[in-house]
Amino acid sequence: MAKRPPQAAPGMPRGMALLHDPLLNKGTAFTEAEREALGLRGLLPAHVHTQEEQVARILQQLRRLADPLDKYVALNALHDRNEALFFRVICDHVDEMQPLIYTPTVGLACQRFGQIFQRPRGMFVSANDRGRVAELLGNWPHPAAIIVVTDGERILGLGDQGAQGMGIPVGKLSLYTACAGIHPRLCLPIAIDVGTNNETLLADPFYIGLRQRRITGAVYDGLIEELVTAAQKAFPGVLIQFEDFANHNAFRLLAKYRDRTCAFNDDIQGTAAVALAGLLSALRVTGGALTEQKLLFLGAGEAATGIADLVTGAMVAQGMPAGAARERCWLVDSRGLVVKSRGDLAAHKRPYAHDHAAIADFPAALRAMKPTAIIGVAAVGGTFTREVLEEMARNNERPIVFALSNPTSRAECTAEQAYRWTGGRALFASGSPFEPVKVEGRTFVPRQGNNSYIFPGVGLGAIVSKSRRVTDGMFMAAARTLAGLVDESDLAQGSLYPALSRIREVSAAIATAVAESAYANGLAGKPRPGDVPADVRSQMYDPRYPSYV
Ligand code: NAD
Repeated sequence: MAKRPPQAAPGMPRGMALLHDPLLNKGTAFTEAEREALGLRGLLPAHVHTQEEQVARILQQLRRLADPLDKYVALNALHDRNEALFFRVICDHVDEMQPLIYTPTVGLACQRFGQIFQRPRGMFVSANDRGRVAELLGNWPHPAAIIVVTDGERILGLGDQGAQGMGIPVGKLSLYTACAGIHPRLCLPIAIDVGTNNETLLADPFYIGLRQRRITGAVYDGLIEELVTAAQKAFPGVLIQFEDFANHNAFRLLAKYRDRTCAFNDDIQGTAAVALAGLLSALRVTGGALTEQKLLFLGAGEAATGIADLVTGAMVAQGMPAGAARERCWLVDSRGLVVKSRGDLAAHKRPYAHDHAAIADFPAALRAMKPTAIIGVAAVGGTFTREVLEEMARNNERPIVFALSNPTSRAECTAEQAYRWTGGRALFASGSPFEPVKVEGRTFVPRQGNNSYIFPGVGLGAIVSKSRRVTDGMFMAAARTLAGLVDESDLAQGSLYPALSRIREVSAAIATAVAESAYANGLAGKPRPGDVPADVRSQMYDPRYPSYV
């Protein structure tokens, strides 16, 4: 009998349209049978590469480039033409790629977004679109399950980047796919463009956004409300992650939407969970109890109060009264120690304003408080000075030092400084990546206390269980799960987090814990499956090419 020619799957685009569809394109890896069935003959060079060979080709192209921003541009171009290959490169080399597609390089990419712009990705909703947002969302070609949205006002530690903040939702959603396997088709990055107060951008001929100062107040709130309502209608059950909003909007919007929709703010809640996980790991080394810790934060914004809230919640879960737990957290902002007598405190700082004399700066607060842990989240580089670190080492056998500010230029100290100035005793984590450090004959492998350990798994767990809400309990479960995946060998080399190369396993475990929380608390939109881990794994996108014939 004659052999049946290969058949393409129904509805599959063919020929040039297929090569130009980044969600389906395989480039030179289309097999002979696919080339035959899909009208690709003559449109590709003769040799059929494996995806592994394509990955090697991309790596050598990237490694030839010296400038991280050039690598970012090259990866973006790959993302635009072949998503599976892009994600395979990221997944197989996550240590090398995450700093390029996310912090620290993405910060520079946002600042230069207009100059490096090639193709739009995601949706831009501007102040001029008021009254028409639902119509705009109708132009999106896929069914979104997750939206990451920013208004660009507080991008990393870099301030107002206007519409150019779009680099952040794009990068973050790439991590949702790479780290947790949320299908790229389900991911929708959105930049809300309400103008910018960044004079440099307003004067930049390449700036991509509205040339006006930011709108605020009721008009701003109306636009966000319109977007949230339209998104829920267009994509029922969609998870909305708020990202890089300035303080004055971030806390308000979270409070407004967290009990009404499936929404969270990663800067506040994701950061909190990754920091709590780091603390739990550090306590495995010191043997101390969480309720015995005293935390001094440099910074009193989204990250600081988010972490303080979750740590307090974890202490309460261990039986400590809420008031006593809050007394364990002290904040220093740009005006000094946050104390009750200050009349200038925003609402999010007030729970941590304790009875104490005013103290003007961080080193003085450190001497007065004698904390067991210092957590830097003020986005002011170099503030964990030699004096600060030596003081921590005097007061603690194993001082906990988290320099979480991003990008690297804003880090409170480097890994080398943290280890060197504490005689190798610091339990250290950083927001930006640092190379291993050799101090006093020992090699330390610091790991990033980066939200990317947390948010992909939380998002996947919420999506898989069709959760109607994202709760603090889910973030606490995520933190415990992450800390539980740190091996003794990690701790022995100073790592408070698992290797990033295990991120898919980590995300699957966190997603399982989050989904279990949704099922247990009546928040899930489907019955609990018999095997929750298997259900999670079955929904994870695999960037290896499927067969089209
Ligand atoms: P934010 O703007 O909400 O808060 C910054 C806080 O720092 C404010 O309270 C401000 O008063 C305070 N501050 C500013 N200058 C100060 C000074 N000189 N001394 C003391 N306090 C000062 O920002 P955020 O969202 O809290 O983020 C802060 C930093 O943490 C950023 O660099 C961000 O990139 C980083 N961060 C890192 C991670 C991570 O994964 N490692 C997660 C979230 C945030």
